[in-house]
Amino acid sequence: MILKKMEILIEQIKEDGLVFKFDKSVETFPVLAEMVANGECEFAVPIRTALRALRIGDMVEIDGDIESSVYLPCNRCLQPFETPLKSHFEITYMRRAADAKEDSEPQEIELSTEDMGIVYFQGEKINLKDTIQEQVVMAFPLRALCKQDCKGLCPKCGADLNEDPCDCDRRSSPGKFAVLENLKLEK
Ligand SMILES: [Zn+2]
Ligand SMILES: [Zn+2]
Repeated sequence: MILKKMEILIEQIKEDGLVFKFDKSVETFPVLAEMVANGECEFAVPIRTALRALRIGDMVEIDGDIESSVYLPCNRCLQPFETPLKSHFEITYMRRAADAKEDSEPQEIELSTEDMGIVYFQGEKINLKDTIQEQVVMAFPLRALCKQDCKGLCPKCGADLNEDPCDCDRRSSPGKFAVLENLKLEK
């Protein structure tokens, strides 16, 4: 089943569960769109999501896979390179009583239940947009390297040492900050 909106109606989930997927452009997700606008990354393909929902009493268990691919600047040489983003997640959605007010739940409790993979929903549908967006953000590599042995930039002259080894004496490297200074001066 392909869903247009990133939400499911509880009544759509039959006894044997609901399997569904959607492809959404990056502009659909405000946080991702902002990352692109800030020049932090470029998405090579849309966000692809495949999910399965199971209903257990007043709870809905959703497990899903998210896939995309982004261009990121390498942490060492700053060259953009493409890297796949993949995430598998399982979240339990729990129905919050219809008469419970939004602010009746102390913030701390919200956070700790979220840590355990529990999210509350109200009414007859579950909106998955925030969850999907969060999973994409968490799938980003902590240290983006174009290749494991990227040689990076020369800390003295800023040359890309993968392509063009320079003649600088790098034994007493002034460190990363000098590179940043050089880059600023060149602009
Ligand atoms: Zn690199
Ligand atoms: Zn150099």
